[in-house]
Amino acid sequence: MACLNDTQIQAVADGEGGALDRAHVATCGACAARVATRQQQIGDLERTLNAALMPASVSARVEAALDAGGSGATRLRAVPGARRPSRWLYSGFAIAAATLVAVLFVVPARRPREASKCSSTSCRLAARRSR
Ligand SMILES: [Zn+2]
Repeated sequence: MACLNDTQIQAVADGEGGALDRAHVATCGACAARVATRQQQIGDLERTLNAALMPASVSARVEAALDAGGSGATRLRAVPGARRPSRWLYSGFAIAAATLVAVLFVVPARRPREASKCSSTSCRLAARRSR
């Protein structure tokens, strides 16, 4: 197995790596060293952040957000007052799209046939003027 990429190293360092990745780290000195370095960096970062004093107002807001529920830093949040568009709106877009396709592709495709019925130059000129 090839050595792990940065994403896999981070996953193993976070304790979330797959079984194959963890098995590779157990047998590969280079990847094991990279995981150890990453875990050291994470530890240093946590100690630095924990040592920084957070203003009480920020701390209260963070605690309130954590108490609000959900999980994960990237969870979707409900937006007050936001509404989903109705199905009628999607139907309207579908009709508009079908009309646009007809205007762009069907109408131009029919015109050359109409013009081909007319063989004389004056007939073609009259057909052009009528457009
Ligand atoms: Zn390796």
